[in-house]
Amino acid sequence: MSNTSFFESVEKNFEKAAQITGHPRGLLDQIRVCNSVYHMKFPVKIDGEFQVIEAWRVQHSHHRVPTKGGIRYDAMVNEDEVMALASLMTYKCAIVDVPFGGAKGGIRINPRQFSSDQLERITRRYAAELCKKNMLGPGLDVPAPDYGTGEREMSWIVDTYMALNPGSIDGYGCVTGKPVTQHGINGRREATGLGVFFGVREACSFADDMAELGLKPGLEGKKVIVQGLGNVGYYSAKFFQDGGATIVGIGEYEGAIYNVNGLDVDAVFNHRKSTGSILNFPGATNMANTAEILEQPCDILIPAALENVIHEGNAKKIKAKIIGEAANGPVTTEADDILNGMGVMIIPDMYLNAGGVTVSYFEWLKNLSHVRFGRLTKRFEQGSNMRIVDTIEELTGKKLSQKEVDNIIKGPDEIDLVRSGLEETMINSYHAIRNEWKSNAASNNLRTAAFVVAINKIASDYLAMGIFP
Ligand code: NAD
Repeated sequence: MSNTSFFESVEKNFEKAAQITGHPRGLLDQIRVCNSVYHMKFPVKIDGEFQVIEAWRVQHSHHRVPTKGGIRYDAMVNEDEVMALASLMTYKCAIVDVPFGGAKGGIRINPRQFSSDQLERITRRYAAELCKKNMLGPGLDVPAPDYGTGEREMSWIVDTYMALNPGSIDGYGCVTGKPVTQHGINGRREATGLGVFFGVREACSFADDMAELGLKPGLEGKKVIVQGLGNVGYYSAKFFQDGGATIVGIGEYEGAIYNVNGLDVDAVFNHRKSTGSILNFPGATNMANTAEILEQPCDILIPAALENVIHEGNAKKIKAKIIGEAANGPVTTEADDILNGMGVMIIPDMYLNAGGVTVSYFEWLKNLSHVRFGRLTKRFEQGSNMRIVDTIEELTGKKLSQKEVDNIIKGPDEIDLVRSGLEETMINSYHAIRNEWKSNAASNNLRTAAFVVAINKIASDYLAMGIFP
Protein backbone atom coordinates (compact mmCIF):
# COMPACT_ATOMS: atom_id res chain seq x y z
CA MET A 1 0.00 0.00 0.00
CA SER A 2 1.01 3.66 0.14
CA ASN A 3 3.22 5.36 2.75
CA THR A 4 1.68 8.64 1.71
CA SER A 5 -1.71 9.65 3.13
CA PHE A 6 -4.51 10.65 0.74
CA PHE A 7 -4.20 14.33 1.69
CA GLU A 8 -0.39 14.23 1.34
CA SER A 9 -0.91 12.64 -2.06
CA VAL A 10 -3.15 15.53 -3.18
CA GLU A 11 -0.60 18.01 -1.78
CA LYS A 12 2.26 16.32 -3.66
CA ASN A 13 0.34 16.51 -6.92
CA PHE A 14 -0.51 20.14 -6.14
CA GLU A 15 3.17 20.95 -5.54
CA LYS A 16 4.29 19.48 -8.88
CA ALA A 17 1.96 21.91 -10.62
CA ALA A 18 2.44 24.82 -8.19
CA GLN A 19 6.12 25.13 -9.16
CA ILE A 20 5.13 25.42 -12.82
CA THR A 21 2.68 28.27 -12.19
CA GLY A 22 5.32 30.56 -10.66
CA HIS A 23 2.86 32.17 -8.21
CA PRO A 24 4.30 33.52 -4.92
CA ARG A 25 4.73 30.89 -2.18
CA GLY A 26 2.29 32.55 0.21
CA LEU A 27 -0.44 32.61 -2.38
CA LEU A 28 0.15 28.95 -3.25
CA ASP A 29 0.04 28.02 0.45
CA GLN A 30 -3.26 29.86 0.84
CA ILE A 31 -4.71 27.94 -2.12
CA ARG A 32 -3.45 24.59 -0.76
CA VAL A 33 -4.48 24.66 2.90
CA CYS A 34 -7.90 23.70 4.30
CA ASN A 35 -9.66 26.85 5.54
CA SER A 36 -11.97 25.17 8.09
CA VAL A 37 -11.92 21.67 9.54
CA TYR A 38 -14.83 20.77 11.81
CA HIS A 39 -14.59 17.45 13.69
CA MET A 40 -17.77 16.64 15.59
CA LYS A 41 -19.02 13.90 17.90
CA PHE A 42 -22.71 13.68 18.66
CA PRO A 43 -25.03 11.20 20.34
CA VAL A 44 -27.71 9.21 18.53
CA LYS A 45 -29.98 6.63 20.19
CA ILE A 46 -29.61 3.28 18.41
CA ASP A 47 -31.82 0.44 19.69
CA GLY A 48 -32.46 2.39 22.89
CA GLU A 49 -28.74 2.92 23.64
CA PHE A 50 -26.68 6.06 23.13
CA GLN A 51 -24.03 5.75 20.47
CA VAL A 52 -21.38 8.41 19.82
CA ILE A 53 -21.16 9.22 16.12
CA GLU A 54 -17.95 10.74 14.77
CA ALA A 55 -18.19 13.02 11.75
CA TRP A 56 -16.44 15.80 9.83
CA ARG A 57 -17.16 18.72 7.55
CA VAL A 58 -14.17 20.35 5.87
CA GLN A 59 -14.42 23.58 3.90
CA HIS A 60 -11.21 23.63 1.93
CA SER A 61 -11.48 27.01 0.26
CA HIS A 62 -13.55 30.12 0.89
CA HIS A 63 -12.20 31.96 -2.17
CA ARG A 64 -15.70 31.42 -3.57
CA VAL A 65 -18.87 30.75 -1.59
CA PRO A 66 -20.87 28.71 -1.04
CA THR A 67 -18.50 25.84 -0.56
CA LYS A 68 -19.63 22.57 -2.04
CA GLY A 69 -18.92 18.86 -1.73
CA GLY A 70 -20.46 15.49 -1.00
CA ILE A 71 -21.03 13.63 2.25
CA ARG A 72 -19.55 10.16 2.60
CA TYR A 73 -20.77 7.37 4.89
CA ASP A 74 -18.08 4.78 5.43
CA ALA A 75 -16.53 2.96 8.40
CA MET A 76 -13.04 4.12 7.32
CA VAL A 77 -13.82 7.85 7.01
CA ASN A 78 -11.13 9.96 8.71
CA GLU A 79 -9.99 13.56 8.84
CA ASP A 80 -7.15 13.12 6.34
CA GLU A 81 -9.53 11.59 3.80
CA VAL A 82 -12.17 14.32 4.18
CA MET A 83 -9.48 17.02 3.87
CA ALA A 84 -8.15 15.38 0.70
CA LEU A 85 -11.63 15.10 -0.82
CA ALA A 86 -12.47 18.71 0.11
CA SER A 87 -9.26 19.93 -1.57
CA LEU A 88 -10.04 17.99 -4.73
CA MET A 89 -13.47 19.67 -4.77
CA THR A 90 -11.86 23.14 -4.90
CA TYR A 91 -9.70 22.23 -7.90
CA LYS A 92 -12.59 20.36 -9.53
CA CYS A 93 -14.93 23.36 -9.29
CA ALA A 94 -12.25 25.63 -10.74
CA ILE A 95 -11.60 23.27 -13.68
CA VAL A 96 -15.27 23.08 -14.71
CA ASP A 97 -16.00 26.75 -13.93
CA VAL A 98 -18.46 26.04 -11.14
CA PRO A 99 -18.37 29.12 -8.87
CA PHE A 100 -17.92 27.33 -5.53
CA GLY A 101 -15.13 26.63 -3.07
CA GLY A 102 -14.45 22.98 -2.23
CA ALA A 103 -15.82 21.12 0.80
CA LYS A 104 -16.51 17.56 1.90
CA GLY A 105 -18.26 15.78 4.74
CA GLY A 106 -17.96 12.35 6.22
CA ILE A 107 -19.65 10.25 8.88
CA ARG A 108 -17.67 7.30 10.22
CA ILE A 109 -20.32 4.57 10.01
CA ASN A 110 -20.92 1.50 7.93
CA PRO A 111 -24.37 2.36 6.53
CA ARG A 112 -25.12 -1.32 5.89
CA GLN A 113 -25.17 -1.90 9.67
CA PHE A 114 -27.97 0.60 10.34
CA SER A 115 -31.68 0.54 9.55
CA SER A 116 -33.23 3.28 7.45
CA ASP A 117 -34.74 4.86 10.61
CA GLN A 118 -31.36 4.88 12.33
CA LEU A 119 -29.65 6.38 9.26
CA GLU A 120 -32.32 9.08 9.19
CA ARG A 121 -31.65 9.99 12.84
CA ILE A 122 -27.89 10.13 12.23
CA THR A 123 -28.29 12.22 9.07
CA ARG A 124 -30.73 14.69 10.63
CA ARG A 125 -28.51 15.13 13.69
CA TYR A 126 -25.47 15.70 11.47
CA ALA A 127 -27.40 18.36 9.51
CA ALA A 128 -28.51 20.03 12.77
CA GLU A 129 -24.88 20.07 14.03
CA LEU A 130 -23.84 21.82 10.79
CA CYS A 131 -26.68 24.35 11.17
CA LYS A 132 -25.55 25.16 14.72
CA LYS A 133 -22.13 26.17 13.35
CA ASN A 134 -23.54 28.05 10.35
CA MET A 135 -21.97 25.45 8.06
CA LEU A 136 -25.05 24.55 6.03
CA GLY A 137 -27.06 26.83 3.75
CA PRO A 138 -27.49 27.85 0.10
CA GLY A 139 -25.00 30.73 0.48
CA LEU A 140 -22.71 28.99 2.99
CA ASP A 141 -22.01 25.35 2.30
CA VAL A 142 -24.00 23.01 0.07
CA PRO A 143 -23.47 19.23 0.47
CA ALA A 144 -24.34 16.53 -2.07
CA PRO A 145 -24.23 12.72 -2.26
CA ASP A 146 -20.98 10.78 -2.20
CA TYR A 147 -19.93 7.22 -1.37
CA GLY A 148 -22.64 5.58 0.78
CA THR A 149 -25.21 8.40 0.44
CA GLY A 150 -27.84 9.32 -2.14
CA GLU A 151 -31.11 11.15 -2.77
CA ARG A 152 -32.72 9.81 0.41
CA GLU A 153 -30.06 11.31 2.70
CA MET A 154 -30.20 14.62 0.81
CA SER A 155 -33.98 14.87 1.33
CA TRP A 156 -33.51 14.31 5.09
CA ILE A 157 -30.89 17.08 5.14
CA VAL A 158 -33.05 19.60 3.27
CA ASP A 159 -36.03 18.82 5.51
CA THR A 160 -33.93 19.33 8.65
CA TYR A 161 -32.55 22.61 7.28
CA MET A 162 -36.03 23.92 6.40
CA ALA A 163 -37.35 22.97 9.85
CA LEU A 164 -34.54 24.94 11.51
CA ASN A 165 -34.76 27.88 9.06
CA PRO A 166 -38.47 28.48 8.52
CA GLY A 167 -39.31 30.86 5.69
CA SER A 168 -35.90 30.55 4.05
CA ILE A 169 -36.83 31.47 0.49
CA ASP A 170 -33.74 29.86 -1.05
CA GLY A 171 -33.49 27.10 1.54
CA TYR A 172 -33.97 24.23 -0.90
CA GLY A 173 -30.58 25.15 -2.35
CA CYS A 174 -28.88 24.08 0.91
CA VAL A 175 -28.08 20.67 -0.56
CA THR A 176 -28.05 19.12 -4.05
CA GLY A 177 -28.65 15.61 -5.34
CA LYS A 178 -32.19 15.74 -3.93
CA PRO A 179 -35.00 13.63 -5.40
CA VAL A 180 -36.58 15.40 -8.39
CA THR A 181 -39.87 15.58 -6.47
CA GLN A 182 -38.08 17.33 -3.58
CA HIS A 183 -36.60 20.25 -5.54
CA GLY A 184 -33.95 18.13 -7.28
CA ILE A 185 -33.13 18.28 -10.97
CA ASN A 186 -33.59 15.78 -13.77
CA GLY A 187 -30.24 14.28 -14.74
CA ARG A 188 -28.39 14.66 -11.40
CA ARG A 189 -28.59 10.96 -10.55
CA GLU A 190 -26.56 9.86 -13.60
CA ALA A 191 -24.53 13.09 -13.95
CA THR A 192 -21.19 11.87 -12.61
CA GLY A 193 -21.25 8.70 -14.74
CA LEU A 194 -22.34 10.63 -17.83
CA GLY A 195 -19.56 13.16 -17.20
CA VAL A 196 -17.05 10.30 -16.97
CA PHE A 197 -18.30 9.04 -20.33
CA PHE A 198 -18.13 12.49 -21.98
CA GLY A 199 -14.61 13.06 -20.61
CA VAL A 200 -13.18 9.72 -21.74
CA ARG A 201 -14.94 10.01 -25.12
CA GLU A 202 -13.33 13.42 -25.64
CA ALA A 203 -9.87 12.13 -24.67
CA CYS A 204 -10.29 9.22 -27.11
CA SER A 205 -11.31 11.54 -29.94
CA PHE A 206 -7.76 12.90 -30.47
CA ALA A 207 -6.21 10.60 -33.09
CA ASP A 208 -2.61 11.63 -32.31
CA ASP A 209 -3.01 11.01 -28.56
CA MET A 210 -4.57 7.61 -29.25
CA ALA A 211 -1.82 6.71 -31.75
CA GLU A 212 0.76 7.29 -28.99
CA LEU A 213 -1.10 4.69 -26.90
CA GLY A 214 -1.37 2.29 -29.84
CA LEU A 215 -5.15 2.78 -29.98
CA LYS A 216 -7.60 3.87 -32.65
CA PRO A 217 -9.59 7.06 -32.00
CA GLY A 218 -13.16 6.72 -30.70
CA LEU A 219 -14.82 4.48 -28.14
CA GLU A 220 -16.26 1.92 -30.57
CA GLY A 221 -15.09 -1.57 -29.61
CA LYS A 222 -12.81 -0.43 -26.79
CA LYS A 223 -12.67 -2.89 -23.88
CA VAL A 224 -13.59 -1.34 -20.55
CA ILE A 225 -13.32 -2.58 -16.93
CA VAL A 226 -15.30 -0.80 -14.21
CA GLN A 227 -14.58 -1.18 -10.49
CA GLY A 228 -17.64 -0.43 -8.32
CA LEU A 229 -21.24 -0.78 -9.48
CA GLY A 230 -22.66 2.03 -7.34
CA ASN A 231 -23.97 5.35 -8.58
CA VAL A 232 -20.87 6.44 -10.51
CA GLY A 233 -19.74 2.99 -11.69
CA TYR A 234 -23.14 1.79 -12.84
CA TYR A 235 -23.93 4.87 -14.91
CA SER A 236 -20.39 5.11 -16.32
CA ALA A 237 -20.62 1.47 -17.44
CA LYS A 238 -24.09 2.03 -18.92
CA PHE A 239 -23.03 5.05 -20.96
CA PHE A 240 -19.85 3.32 -22.19
CA GLN A 241 -21.92 0.34 -23.32
CA ASP A 242 -24.47 2.58 -25.06
CA GLY A 243 -21.58 4.54 -26.63
CA GLY A 244 -20.21 1.45 -28.40
CA ALA A 245 -17.58 0.22 -25.93
CA THR A 246 -17.55 -3.35 -24.55
CA ILE A 247 -17.68 -3.81 -20.79
CA VAL A 248 -15.40 -6.82 -20.17
CA GLY A 249 -15.02 -6.65 -16.37
CA ILE A 250 -16.92 -5.39 -13.34
CA GLY A 251 -15.75 -5.45 -9.72
CA GLU A 252 -17.77 -5.08 -6.54
CA TYR A 253 -16.69 -5.45 -2.94
CA GLU A 254 -17.72 -9.15 -2.76
CA GLY A 255 -15.81 -10.16 -5.92
CA ALA A 256 -15.37 -9.47 -9.63
CA ILE A 257 -16.36 -10.95 -12.99
CA TYR A 258 -14.65 -10.90 -16.39
CA ASN A 259 -15.79 -11.89 -19.87
CA VAL A 260 -13.68 -10.83 -22.84
CA ASN A 261 -16.79 -11.04 -25.07
CA GLY A 262 -18.67 -8.49 -23.01
CA LEU A 263 -21.02 -8.20 -20.01
CA ASP A 264 -24.46 -6.62 -20.22
CA VAL A 265 -24.45 -3.97 -17.50
CA ASP A 266 -28.16 -4.15 -16.59
CA ALA A 267 -28.13 -7.95 -16.62
CA VAL A 268 -25.18 -7.91 -14.18
CA PHE A 269 -26.92 -5.29 -12.02
CA ASN A 270 -30.11 -7.38 -11.86
CA HIS A 271 -28.16 -10.58 -11.21
CA ARG A 272 -26.47 -8.90 -8.23
CA LYS A 273 -29.82 -7.61 -6.98
CA SER A 274 -31.49 -11.00 -7.14
CA THR A 275 -28.60 -13.20 -5.89
CA GLY A 276 -26.95 -10.71 -3.54
CA SER A 277 -23.60 -11.07 -5.33
CA ILE A 278 -21.97 -10.12 -8.59
CA LEU A 279 -20.30 -13.57 -8.71
CA ASN A 280 -21.58 -16.52 -10.81
CA PHE A 281 -22.89 -14.33 -13.63
CA PRO A 282 -23.55 -16.64 -16.62
CA GLY A 283 -20.59 -16.90 -19.01
CA ALA A 284 -18.21 -14.83 -16.85
CA THR A 285 -15.08 -15.85 -14.92
CA ASN A 286 -15.28 -15.28 -11.16
CA MET A 287 -12.60 -13.52 -9.13
CA ALA A 288 -12.99 -13.94 -5.39
CA ASN A 289 -10.21 -11.39 -4.83
CA THR A 290 -11.99 -8.36 -6.27
CA ALA A 291 -8.80 -6.29 -6.67
CA GLU A 292 -7.64 -8.71 -9.40
CA ILE A 293 -10.11 -7.12 -11.80
CA LEU A 294 -7.85 -4.07 -12.04
CA GLU A 295 -5.08 -6.19 -13.56
CA GLN A 296 -7.13 -7.84 -16.33
CA PRO A 297 -6.63 -7.02 -20.05
CA CYS A 298 -8.59 -3.98 -21.27
CA ASP A 299 -8.11 -0.64 -23.05
CA ILE A 300 -9.80 1.57 -20.46
CA LEU A 301 -9.91 1.01 -16.70
CA ILE A 302 -12.52 2.94 -14.70
CA PRO A 303 -11.99 2.74 -10.93
CA ALA A 304 -15.33 3.98 -9.49
CA ALA A 305 -15.24 2.80 -5.86
CA LEU A 306 -12.72 4.23 -3.41
CA GLU A 307 -9.27 5.81 -3.16
CA ASN A 308 -5.80 4.14 -3.19
CA VAL A 309 -6.90 1.01 -5.08
CA ILE A 310 -4.05 1.32 -7.61
CA HIS A 311 -0.83 1.45 -5.62
CA GLU A 312 2.88 0.62 -5.71
CA GLY A 313 2.05 -3.09 -5.33
CA ASN A 314 -0.20 -3.50 -8.38
CA ALA A 315 0.57 -0.52 -10.67
CA LYS A 316 3.04 -2.51 -12.82
CA LYS A 317 0.40 -5.19 -13.42
CA ILE A 318 -2.12 -2.76 -14.93
CA LYS A 319 -2.73 -3.59 -18.60
CA ALA A 320 -5.06 -0.69 -19.48
CA LYS A 321 -3.75 2.06 -21.77
CA ILE A 322 -6.13 4.62 -20.25
CA ILE A 323 -7.22 4.98 -16.63
CA GLY A 324 -10.30 7.16 -16.15
CA GLU A 325 -10.45 8.19 -12.51
CA ALA A 326 -14.20 8.11 -11.80
CA ALA A 327 -13.55 7.68 -8.06
CA ASN A 328 -11.63 10.30 -6.12
CA GLY A 329 -7.96 9.44 -5.59
CA PRO A 330 -7.97 5.84 -6.89
CA VAL A 331 -4.27 6.06 -7.90
CA THR A 332 -1.67 6.67 -5.16
CA THR A 333 1.11 9.13 -5.85
CA GLU A 334 3.67 6.25 -6.07
CA ALA A 335 1.46 4.40 -8.58
CA ASP A 336 0.98 7.63 -10.53
CA ASP A 337 4.74 7.87 -11.11
CA ILE A 338 4.97 4.21 -12.15
CA LEU A 339 2.02 4.44 -14.57
CA ASN A 340 3.26 7.69 -16.10
CA GLY A 341 6.59 5.91 -16.68
CA MET A 342 4.70 3.08 -18.41
CA GLY A 343 3.05 5.59 -20.75
CA VAL A 344 -0.48 5.04 -19.39
CA MET A 345 -2.82 7.99 -19.93
CA ILE A 346 -4.47 8.91 -16.61
CA ILE A 347 -7.53 11.15 -16.90
CA PRO A 348 -7.57 12.74 -13.45
CA ASP A 349 -10.43 12.59 -10.92
CA MET A 350 -10.57 16.35 -10.40
CA TYR A 351 -11.66 16.71 -14.01
CA LEU A 352 -13.27 13.39 -14.88
CA ASN A 353 -15.78 13.03 -12.05
CA ALA A 354 -16.79 16.71 -12.09
CA GLY A 355 -20.10 15.91 -13.82
CA GLY A 356 -21.76 15.52 -10.44
CA VAL A 357 -20.81 18.95 -9.15
CA THR A 358 -21.60 20.51 -12.53
CA VAL A 359 -25.19 19.28 -12.47
CA SER A 360 -25.39 20.05 -8.74
CA TYR A 361 -24.59 23.63 -9.75
CA PHE A 362 -27.50 23.52 -12.22
CA GLU A 363 -29.73 22.18 -9.42
CA TRP A 364 -28.64 25.00 -7.09
CA LEU A 365 -29.37 27.56 -9.84
CA LYS A 366 -32.81 25.98 -10.31
CA ASN A 367 -33.46 26.23 -6.55
CA LEU A 368 -32.44 29.90 -6.45
CA SER A 369 -34.50 30.76 -9.54
CA HIS A 370 -37.50 28.72 -8.36
CA VAL A 371 -38.32 27.55 -11.86
CA ARG A 372 -37.69 24.40 -13.86
CA PHE A 373 -35.24 24.84 -16.76
CA GLY A 374 -37.12 25.03 -20.06
CA ARG A 375 -40.47 25.94 -18.48
CA LEU A 376 -40.54 29.47 -19.87
CA THR A 377 -38.93 28.78 -23.23
CA LYS A 378 -39.91 25.31 -24.47
CA ARG A 379 -43.29 26.17 -26.05
CA PHE A 380 -41.99 29.49 -27.34
CA GLU A 381 -39.09 27.74 -29.10
CA GLN A 382 -41.46 25.15 -30.54
CA GLY A 383 -43.64 27.97 -31.92
CA SER A 384 -40.63 29.72 -33.52
CA ASN A 385 -39.39 26.45 -35.02
CA MET A 386 -42.89 25.72 -36.36
CA ARG A 387 -42.88 29.07 -38.17
CA ILE A 388 -39.54 28.07 -39.79
CA VAL A 389 -41.08 24.75 -40.90
CA ASP A 390 -44.10 26.60 -42.35
CA THR A 391 -41.78 28.93 -44.28
CA ILE A 392 -39.68 26.02 -45.64
CA GLU A 393 -42.85 24.24 -46.79
CA GLU A 394 -44.17 27.41 -48.39
CA LEU A 395 -40.89 28.17 -50.22
CA THR A 396 -40.22 24.58 -51.38
CA GLY A 397 -43.84 23.59 -51.96
CA LYS A 398 -42.97 20.32 -50.19
CA LYS A 399 -44.90 18.99 -47.18
CA LEU A 400 -42.64 17.53 -44.45
CA SER A 401 -43.69 14.31 -42.71
CA GLN A 402 -45.02 14.57 -39.14
CA LYS A 403 -41.82 12.84 -37.91
CA GLU A 404 -39.63 15.43 -39.68
CA VAL A 405 -41.73 18.26 -38.25
CA ASP A 406 -41.55 16.82 -34.71
CA ASN A 407 -37.76 16.46 -34.98
CA ILE A 408 -37.31 20.08 -36.08
CA ILE A 409 -39.71 21.82 -33.72
CA LYS A 410 -38.97 20.01 -30.44
CA GLY A 411 -38.20 22.51 -27.66
CA PRO A 412 -35.84 21.39 -24.88
CA ASP A 413 -36.97 19.72 -21.64
CA GLU A 414 -35.01 20.15 -18.43
CA ILE A 415 -33.12 16.87 -19.00
CA ASP A 416 -32.04 18.00 -22.51
CA LEU A 417 -30.66 21.27 -21.16
CA VAL A 418 -28.92 19.60 -18.23
CA ARG A 419 -27.25 17.00 -20.43
CA SER A 420 -26.15 19.47 -23.07
CA GLY A 421 -24.82 21.82 -20.38
CA LEU A 422 -22.87 18.91 -18.90
CA GLU A 423 -21.51 17.84 -22.30
CA GLU A 424 -20.41 21.40 -23.09
CA THR A 425 -18.68 21.65 -19.70
CA MET A 426 -16.81 18.34 -19.98
CA ILE A 427 -15.64 19.03 -23.55
CA ASN A 428 -14.52 22.62 -22.90
CA SER A 429 -12.72 21.68 -19.71
CA TYR A 430 -10.91 18.79 -21.38
CA HIS A 431 -9.67 21.12 -24.11
CA ALA A 432 -8.35 23.59 -21.51
CA ILE A 433 -6.43 20.83 -19.71
CA ARG A 434 -5.15 19.25 -22.92
CA ASN A 435 -3.98 22.64 -24.25
CA GLU A 436 -1.92 23.13 -21.09
CA TRP A 437 -0.53 19.58 -21.41
CA LYS A 438 0.42 20.00 -25.07
CA SER A 439 1.66 23.58 -24.96
CA ASN A 440 3.75 23.50 -21.77
CA ALA A 441 6.50 20.89 -21.60
CA ALA A 442 6.57 21.20 -17.80
CA SER A 443 2.93 20.07 -17.56
CA ASN A 444 3.89 16.60 -18.72
CA ASN A 445 0.68 14.73 -17.94
CA LEU A 446 -3.04 15.46 -17.68
CA ARG A 447 -3.07 15.55 -13.86
CA THR A 448 -0.34 18.16 -13.61
CA ALA A 449 -1.96 20.13 -16.42
CA ALA A 450 -5.34 20.01 -14.63
CA PHE A 451 -3.74 21.29 -11.40
CA VAL A 452 -2.02 24.12 -13.30
CA VAL A 453 -5.33 25.18 -14.87
CA ALA A 454 -7.10 25.05 -11.49
CA ILE A 455 -4.36 26.86 -9.54
CA ASN A 456 -4.21 29.68 -12.08
CA LYS A 457 -7.97 30.27 -11.86
CA ILE A 458 -8.04 30.24 -8.04
CA ALA A 459 -4.95 32.46 -7.89
CA SER A 460 -6.63 35.02 -10.12
CA ASP A 461 -9.57 35.15 -7.66
CA TYR A 462 -7.24 35.79 -4.73
CA LEU A 463 -5.29 38.40 -6.69
CA ALA A 464 -8.53 40.13 -7.62
CA MET A 465 -9.45 40.26 -3.92
CA GLY A 466 -6.36 42.36 -3.30
CA ILE A 467 -5.06 40.12 -0.53
CA PHE A 468 -1.76 39.83 -2.39
CA PRO A 469 -1.21 43.27 -3.89
P1 NAD B 1 -21.68 4.41 -4.13
O1 NAD B 1 -21.73 4.15 -2.67
O2 NAD B 1 -22.95 4.69 -4.86
O3 NAD B 1 -20.97 3.19 -4.90
C1 NAD B 1 -19.70 2.69 -4.61
C2 NAD B 1 -19.71 1.20 -4.95
O4 NAD B 1 -18.37 0.68 -4.81
C3 NAD B 1 -20.60 0.40 -4.01
O5 NAD B 1 -21.50 -0.38 -4.78
C4 NAD B 1 -19.61 -0.46 -3.23
O6 NAD B 1 -20.15 -1.72 -2.85
C5 NAD B 1 -18.48 -0.61 -4.23
N1 NAD B 1 -17.19 -0.99 -3.64
C6 NAD B 1 -16.72 -0.73 -2.41
N2 NAD B 1 -15.49 -1.24 -2.25
C7 NAD B 1 -15.19 -1.85 -3.41
C8 NAD B 1 -14.05 -2.59 -3.86
N3 NAD B 1 -12.98 -2.77 -3.10
N4 NAD B 1 -14.07 -3.10 -5.12
C9 NAD B 1 -15.15 -2.92 -5.91
N5 NAD B 1 -16.25 -2.23 -5.53
C10 NAD B 1 -16.26 -1.70 -4.29
O7 NAD B 1 -20.65 5.60 -4.29
P2 NAD B 1 -20.49 6.59 -5.53
O8 NAD B 1 -21.30 7.79 -5.26
O9 NAD B 1 -20.65 5.83 -6.79
O10 NAD B 1 -18.96 7.03 -5.36
C11 NAD B 1 -17.88 6.26 -5.88
C12 NAD B 1 -16.66 7.15 -6.02
O11 NAD B 1 -16.98 8.24 -6.89
C13 NAD B 1 -16.15 7.78 -4.72
O12 NAD B 1 -14.75 7.90 -4.80
C14 NAD B 1 -16.78 9.16 -4.75
O13 NAD B 1 -16.05 10.09 -3.98
C15 NAD B 1 -16.69 9.47 -6.23
N6 NAD B 1 -17.61 10.51 -6.70
C16 NAD B 1 -18.96 10.38 -6.55
C17 NAD B 1 -19.81 11.37 -7.04
C18 NAD B 1 -21.31 11.26 -6.97
O14 NAD B 1 -21.99 12.10 -7.59
N7 NAD B 1 -21.89 10.27 -6.31
C19 NAD B 1 -19.26 12.52 -7.65
C20 NAD B 1 -17.88 12.62 -7.80
C21 NAD B 1 -17.08 11.60 -7.33
